[in-house]
Amino acid sequence: MNSKISFRNVSRRFDLAGGSFLALDRLSLDVADGEFVTVVGPSGCGKSTALNIAAGLVEPSSGEVLVDGRNVRGPGPERGVIFQQYALFPWLTVRENVEFGLRIARKGARERREIADHFINLVGLERFADALPKTLSGGMRQRCAIARAYAVNPTILLMDEPFGALDALTRVQMQDQLLQTWSRERRTIMFITHDVDEAVYLANRVVVMAARPGRLYEIIPVDLPYPRTEEIRLSPEFAVIRNRVWHAVYHQPAMTAEANV
Ligand code: ADP
Ligand code: MG
Repeated sequence: MNSKISFRNVSRRFDLAGGSFLALDRLSLDVADGEFVTVVGPSGCGKSTALNIAAGLVEPSSGEVLVDGRNVRGPGPERGVIFQQYALFPWLTVRENVEFGLRIARKGARERREIADHFINLVGLERFADALPKTLSGGMRQRCAIARAYAVNPTILLMDEPFGALDALTRVQMQDQLLQTWSRERRTIMFITHDVDEAVYLANRVVVMAARPGRLYEIIPVDLPYPRTEEIRLSPEFAVIRNRVWHAVYHQPAMTAEANV
């Protein structure tokens, strides 16, 4: 099988005072090599938990995640993770942050600089390459975190609401850039968002999850051609799929309180 990421009956329980909470209930999902999957669902439905398990940052309580057929046992350089909260080293400049992973990968100084500058340009931070994160806006910090993740050229990108802090225009630009690099380099991407339009615009398939307990609800294929364009975004075909996803997210049958154990 050429499944790049495979969730197999993955559950995660968190201990709480006086009990435990089932954050993710038997998630099974296969993401194909080169596929772009987006994940949407109500707050608390286990999206981040699922992504963090694939990233090797959270252990499943039961079940397993396979990447390239191998059991995930921790983080790895083939999986780049981008969080909603920009995670930068505050004492390093933008360029040093972007070069960080390249240093670990033992790239030479010239190559590091070349690669870093390429991705700094890509996210539009060339004028701020020597700036410290604290002098940047939230959106700029996030673009720096994105450049840092892209720079190490992972075959898989795990992105947890990466564009949530960006203004609307920058967000659309970042979506198009992401699609361009994805189609050029054929990465496999799992991308969480709470924005239904964004989910449809980017994806081959939209994974809709439900809460209490967090679980797979529906998978909606997006049969729209790439490259995705403004024309596609504004088309009736797009609207049909968006409405279907919207309905799946916002009109899920209410769960009973008993299910929340
Ligand atoms: P989502 O990303 O879909 O909003 P999360 O995966 O962050 O949801 O969380 C799913 C549920 O698990 C939430 O109710 C959250 O409060 C709970 N949860 C997540 N991480 C922890 C943790 N480390 N300890 C306890 N509860 C957690
Ligand atoms: Mg989350």
